Amino acid sequence: MPELPEVEVTRRCIAPLLVGRRIAHLRTSRPSYFFLTPPARLRRGLEGRALRSLERAGKYLLGEVEGGGRLLLHLGMTGQLFASGVASVRLLSARQRAALAPEQQRAFRPDHHTHLRFEFDDAGPAVLFRDVRKFGKVQLLAPGERSERLDRLGTDALAIGGDALFEATRGRVAAIKTLLLDQAVVAGTGNIYADEALFLAGVRPTRRAGRVTRAECGRIAVGLRQVMLRSIETGGSSISDYVTPDGSDGGYQDERRVYAREGEPCLACGRRIRRLVLGQRSAHWCPGCQR
Ligand SMILES: [Zn+2]
Repeated sequence: MPELPEVEVTRRCIAPLLVGRRIAHLRTSRPSYFFLTPPARLRRGLEGRALRSLERAGKYLLGEVEGGGRLLLHLGMTGQLFASGVASVRLLSARQRAALAPEQQRAFRPDHHTHLRFEFDDAGPAVLFRDVRKFGKVQLLAPGERSERLDRLGTDALAIGGDALFEATRGRVAAIKTLLLDQAVVAGTGNIYADEALFLAGVRPTRRAGRVTRAECGRIAVGLRQVMLRSIETGGSSISDYVTPDGSDGGYQDERRVYAREGEPCLACGRRIRRLVLGQRSAHWCPGCQR
């Protein structure tokens, strides 16, 4: 699932292709739960307009629409936002991949999983939003319209400080890992980076949040920023369906210290990395380095 770094990498790659270009046509798939704003209304609100900017809020992308309003995009589990003409075999499903020769795989054509296709009034590439599992979302907010999704976001994971995290965890009986995944507490954090940050901080994921010390909260905040900035730098984690918008693979999965390394030796102390299920998500940790 794309987390903050993957969304940020997507934003940086796609913003130059999406911002400042007039949308001539918006092609959409059929109405579905992907569309928080019905396709017809989305087309009416966006065609003939350009986006002035594209920002990130937690795991959401937020475009400022010329003439007012905001475009909200969420990649969900398998959402991909990319320009037409990019080459990546993972844009195709396993079934299609099995049926196609490698050179055919590289020539992606919009399919029924392509829910949005922005076509512009210049000769440049179209921008596509493709999502096989449709947990992604699109919404057009009218000028001044509030969004419950945005209003409930906590401090961004790249901006949260140790003191703020310490205050947010006081009196909380939930496990620290569970709290880090709560978007109302730390916006943008997901499973991979929570595990990695807790390893760097030396804190076990199962620790009761209210018992984590101020110093440890400081280390967790630093750890979150460190792993996420490094991941952004390397193009995000290419785990499951994530692919960078230019069609290349991210590189961060090669630098993981605990995530998905169950049974492998800890790079710091040599003990075997353990895995447990916490709040229906798997948590990975080192019994030697984390307490
Ligand atoms: Zn260790």
